[in-house]
Parts: sequence; C-alpha cells; structure tokens
Amino acid sequence: MAGQTTSGTSLKFADIIADPVIRERWEKVRQYFFLRESTYDMTNRCNIRCEGCYYYNGEKQFAKENSNEEEWRQLMVAEKERGITFAVLAGAEPSLVSRLCRICYEHIPLGAIATNGLKPIPLDIDYRIHISVWGNDRTSKEIRKAGDMLVRQMDNYRDDPRSIFVYTFTPHNIDEARQVTERLADRGQQITFNMFSAPVGYEGPLRHTSESLLRTGEMMAGLLADYPRTVLFSHYNIVAHTSGTGLHDLFSCTYPRMNPSTAIGLGRSFRQYRTDLKWDRDAACCVPDTDCDDCRHYAAGSAVVTARMYRHAVNRETFSAWLDYVDTYLAVWVRGYKKGVNLIDYPVQPPESQETQKSL
Ligand code: SF4
Repeated sequence: MAGQTTSGTSLKFADIIADPVIRERWEKVRQYFFLRESTYDMTNRCNIRCEGCYYYNGEKQFAKENSNEEEWRQLMVAEKERGITFAVLAGAEPSLVSRLCRICYEHIPLGAIATNGLKPIPLDIDYRIHISVWGNDRTSKEIRKAGDMLVRQMDNYRDDPRSIFVYTFTPHNIDEARQVTERLADRGQQITFNMFSAPVGYEGPLRHTSESLLRTGEMMAGLLADYPRTVLFSHYNIVAHTSGTGLHDLFSCTYPRMNPSTAIGLGRSFRQYRTDLKWDRDAACCVPDTDCDDCRHYAAGSAVVTARMYRHAVNRETFSAWLDYVDTYLAVWVRGYKKGVNLIDYPVQPPESQETQKSL
C-alpha cells in the first residue's frame, strides 16, 4: 500500500509504521480489528423524555416490544454465528430491561449500553456503560425534564470501571461542559464528547450552527488539555466532529443506510434491530432517523472514521491522527482497553475523500 505525503511524494505504509511510536500504537489497535458491531433497541420505554431524542423519531419507536427471553437468546446465538462480536444496546432505555441486556452479554461478551444512568445496570453485565449528559442539572431539567441528573448518575456509577459519561454538546450547553467535567474529575470518573445531531426534519434550537461548532471545538480542546486523565478524546476527534460538514461528507458513511455495498465491512455485517427483533437495511445505522447532513454523532464517527484506515495512511501525521481516533474509540467502547497518550496535539485536516471505499 502506498500513499501521498504532504509534499506529494509516495510513502509506503511500511515507511509510515517504521516510526517506532506509530508502530507501537498501530500494533495496539489492530488487535481489535476483529470487532463487528450490531445495535439492538432493547425496549420502546424510557423513564425520561428528552427534546430531540433520536429514538422517538421515525418508525422504530412504534415497533412492538418483544421481551421474550428465549427469542432474545435465539437472536444472540444467530448474531454470534453470523460473526457479530460487539453488541451495542440502546433505545429507548436499556436499564429498564436488564434481564434482556444480560442475555446479550452472556452470548456476546463485548459490548456497550447507552443509558441515561438513572437506574443502575447490574454489575454482572460487564459491558461498557455510556451515561448520557446534556448539560448541568438546570439544563438537564429543561431538556430532559429530570432533576439532579448528574449527581444521581455519578452516585449510581461511583467507582464503576464500566462507566463513562458522554456529554452531548448543543449550542446552548457549551460552557457548562467545564463544570460537568470538573465534577467528574473530582470523583475520578471519565467523560467523552458527543455532538447533538438533528433528527430528520428537526428544526428546533438544539441544531448546531457554524458559530456553535467553533465554540464547541474550542471547549473540547480546552478540556482535553486541562483534564487529560478525565477526558477520553483526541484532537482528531475534535476535527471530525466539529467540522462544518458532517461525518458523511467528510468520510463517506459506511453504514447500510448510506452504503449500498454488501461486499465488506459495515455494509455487509451491520444490523440495527428494533424492539420487535426485526431490522430494515434501508434504515440501518447506529443513529437511525438522524439527518445524515447533520450527523456528527460520536457513535457514528466511531465506525465511520475508524473504517477509513486506508484513506488516512498517506503520511505519518495523518495516520497518527487516525490512530488517536481509533485509540479513543476503543477506550470509550471496549471494557478494559486503556487509552494511550495522544500522538498528535493539534488539528489535522481529514484527507481528501476517495472513490475507492475500503474497510477494516
Ligand atoms: S445518520 Fe450518520 S451514521 Fe446514520 S447513515 Fe446518516 S451519516 Fe451514517
């Protein structure tokens, strides 16, 4: 494999990873290339209702809820057989059906659960637990209609190595991220960042603007510098998620919903199961019913940016930025994976898109 250096000369992949620091990180992350994800809506119920929630948009919220344990068991056996090695349990609130989450864990031992954190998930379900935060407690009360959210979330997951808090930036909570990060740092808990990505047809106040994207990027960079042990993120994450263009335009989304190819990668293996245990290829991505033009979602980027290894293997700087992104993604999503020090501490622009799509 050969790429272009910034000066335009050809650089072989072997030359890129000849650097011992790059090679070490490459060897570390490539051990996880076996991961193949699918996502599962666990229940159509939630104990809160947030403005702009992607779950309560589109058709998926109306799927009949199947809580039959034997049918979930059969689904997980079949998923494992077709090569799925990572389960993402989401929509609407998985903690309300922890017995179903346990069945998933028993069959596919690597995975993550997206939760609002108000109801603790039993410790024996050893998935990464992603706890959503939308601002300080005053803002959460306004947007999520729930009081004292952060303190309840922190108490529920105190000293729990499964947990990581996921702060969703909107145009209105940018400054509050510092206060939330400080509180988590004081308790030795970790945080990563998400971007509000508008559901299809959403024209409400949470949609980002060019000004809010810029301010969000600055806040992320400040928190990354000030709380390196608390914040799991990288400078390339900031570039990828706060650019004026969304993830699809930057990296060509590989989820089935935007990718007609069934030959390789996510287009071949990814499914998004609804609560009736059915899936629809035309709607399948990790955040269905999100407006693709506005998609900067952290879960989307974890797959879309990570899948573009070949595109980033053009020079040491760009490949190192990609390695930082993958190292961050694994630390956020995989239990026990420890994030390394970022290789790049400044913004690197994404490489030009290519017609040829390759995947891990
Ligand atoms: S919403 Fe995001 S992840 Fe889903 S298909 Fe669109 S660009 Fe891809």
